[in-house]
Amino acid sequence: MGSDELEKENQELKRTLRLLINKAERNESVLNSFFEVELRLLSCSRLSELLDLILVEFKSLFRLSHVNLILFDPEHAARTLLDDYVPPPPGNTLRFVQSQRLLKSIYPNQNMIIGTPREELRQEAFPVSESPVQSCALLPLIRQNCLIGSLHLGSHDASRYTEHVRYDYLQHLAQVISVCIENCINQENLHRLSSIDMLTKVHNRRSFEQEIVRELSRASRGNYALACLFIDLDHFKMVNDTFGHQTGDRVLRTVGLFLNKQLRKTDIVARYGGEEFAILLPNCDQERALEIADNLRQKLAGLVFRNEDAKPFRMTTSVGVSLCNPDKFPQAKLEDIAYQLIQAADKAVYNSKRNGRDRISFSPFSEQNISRIRQA
Ligand code: GH3
Ligand code: MG
Ligand code: MG
Repeated sequence: MGSDELEKENQELKRTLRLLINKAERNESVLNSFFEVELRLLSCSRLSELLDLILVEFKSLFRLSHVNLILFDPEHAARTLLDDYVPPPPGNTLRFVQSQRLLKSIYPNQNMIIGTPREELRQEAFPVSESPVQSCALLPLIRQNCLIGSLHLGSHDASRYTEHVRYDYLQHLAQVISVCIENCINQENLHRLSSIDMLTKVHNRRSFEQEIVRELSRASRGNYALACLFIDLDHFKMVNDTFGHQTGDRVLRTVGLFLNKQLRKTDIVARYGGEEFAILLPNCDQERALEIADNLRQKLAGLVFRNEDAKPFRMTTSVGVSLCNPDKFPQAKLEDIAYQLIQAADKAVYNSKRNGRDRISFSPFSEQNISRIRQA
C-alpha cells in the first residue's frame, strides 16, 4: 500500500472516529435528558398529562421534528378518559386502534425500528407531516408480551437515528412509557369508578360532596356565586310499583344522561339519593339559577319514557334551588357552607313538594345556620 493510500485511509478513519465521537457525545446528552424525562413520566398521574409530555415536550427535549403515538384501545378506556383532550397539531399525532393488526404489521417481531423508514412505513407512522421525516425510531409499546401501542420519533436529520448504532435507552424508554400509560389508565379508571354512580353514570354522592367543597373554594377565589339545584322525581315509587324496578332504573338512567347533556362542562351533575339528582352551577347568579332550574323542570316534564310494553309515560320533578355568594361568608369553613347549601336546596325541594310538585322553589342561604354549625 502506497503512502498516499495510507494517508487517505488514515483521513477516512479519523473522519469516522470524529463522527462516532460526535454521535457518542450527542447520545450522552440525550441519555442525560432521558433520565430527567423518565422521572417526569413516572410522576404523571393523568393520561392527558402523560400524553402532553410525550407528544409535545419530547420534541424539544429530544430535538425531534415529529412525535406520534398509536394506542391500542379496544374498549375505549383511554378515549373515555381523554374526552376533553385535544392532541397537538399537525393532526393524527394521537391515534387509537381497535385491533392489533396494524401494530403487528409494523412490529412482526416486536422489535423497534431504527433508521430511514420505507415509504409505506413512513406514511403509516407519520401520516400528516409538513416536512419529510429523514430518520426515525419506531418503538413498540409492550405490556405482558402484548402490543399496546406504538411511539414514533421522527427527525429531519438523516443521521439522527441510524441502523448501525445501538439505542438501548430507547428500548428502556419504550418500556417506561408502556408502564406509565397502563398505570395512568388504571389509576384514572379506578378514580372514575369510585366517583361515578354506576346506574346513571353521573357523579355519586361521595364525589358530589367533594366537588361542592372544591367548587366553593374556586368560587371564593374567583369571587363568584355557586348555585345548587336538587331535583327530585315526583311519585317515582309509583313508577316502580306500576311498571317494575327495571323501568324505574331506565328512567333514572335517562334523567342522568339528559341532565349531563343539558349542562355546561363546568357544571357538576350527581345522583344524590335514590331518585334525587343534585347539580352545581358555578358562576351563576340567582336569577340565572332559577331560569336554568325551571328550564330543566319543563324539559324533564316533556321527556317520554316507556315501560317494558313500550307504553309511554311522563314524569314531573320538584326542584329546589339554593345559592351561595362567597364574599358573604369569608370566615366560614367551606365544609360548613357546603352543608348549608345542600340543606337549603333540600328544604327548597320540600317546599316544591308541599306546594303541589312539578315546580321550583328557592331557599335562601342562612348565615345564622352557618354560625350554628360552627358552634356545634
Ligand atoms: P315524592 O313525589 O314525594 O318524591 O314521591 P316518591 O315516590 O318519588 O318518593 P319516595 O321517597 O316515596 O320513593 C322513592 C322511591 O325511589 C322508592 C325507591 O324504591 C325508589 N328508588 C330508589 N333508588 C332506586 C333505584 O336505584 N332504582 C329504582 N328503580 N328505584 C329506586
Ligand atoms: Mg321523589
Ligand atoms: Mg326523594
